[in-house]
Amino acid sequence: MAGMSGAQQYPDAVTVDDFRANLAAVRARIDAAAQRVGRDPAQIRLLPVSKTVPADRVRLAIEAGCTMLGENKVQEAKAKAADLADTGVAWSLIGHLQTNKAKDVAAFADEFQALDSLRVARALDRRLQAAGRQLDVLVQVNTSAEEQKYGLAPDEVDTFLRDLAEFETLRVRGLMTLALFTDDTERIRACFRRLRAVRDRVRAEDPALLGPGELSMGMSGDYELAVEEGSTCVRVGQAIFGARATPDAYYWPG
Ligand SMILES: *Cc1c(COP(=O)(O)O)cnc(C)c1O
Repeated sequence: MAGMSGAQQYPDAVTVDDFRANLAAVRARIDAAAQRVGRDPAQIRLLPVSKTVPADRVRLAIEAGCTMLGENKVQEAKAKAADLADTGVAWSLIGHLQTNKAKDVAAFADEFQALDSLRVARALDRRLQAAGRQLDVLVQVNTSAEEQKYGLAPDEVDTFLRDLAEFETLRVRGLMTLALFTDDTERIRACFRRLRAVRDRVRAEDPALLGPGELSMGMSGDYELAVEEGSTCVRVGQAIFGARATPDAYYWPG
């Protein structure tokens, strides 16, 4: 990967066939990574991430078979959910949420992967009750210590999960993390291992706290490592849609 620009590495998908080919290629790599470590590939879901991609191009991805899409920002997701309502595609919010956006999320999202505060949980619960809906949630964990802003510290997760149990509208499905942005694969793997260790520790304590115990980890640059380390959901944008011009700092203020 070093030395290759994003545009060379991830060409834009602009036809349904491009999307079919990219989805199949990523899926094949997921399956191969699973097989390398003796895992069942069927236990790993591929969540395509459509952020920055305009709705007309996202529509082609849906035609190619995407049934759920990940988006980082609420406003963008809300607009696309409206534009693409006729397709029936489901939406997973994977980015940090402010409490004043909880109402929007409660209205259209099927999953929220970046829960890391009781304030947000409370706001979501209130809005979901009003809407008569429930939401699948994953708790975001900061597995790279001081280097990222969002997510709970690993040792805060148990208490947080116990507190979440009071919110009947939130169905806890597991944990989510972003690995360090580095070329050092051992440091990336260490992040993924930390998330798995938190899951295993909580499960040993009280399996009811984590539902199915999903591990959402891995993106275009590191999803094969994540699968080798136990991921059950990889969030892949650029390897499916094409390189993104927006700098990562827009999504992950460090
Ligand atoms: C954008 C994003 C991804 C996907 O990143 P790619 O490099 O496009 O694969 C994964 N997770 C989160 C939280 C994101 O915001």
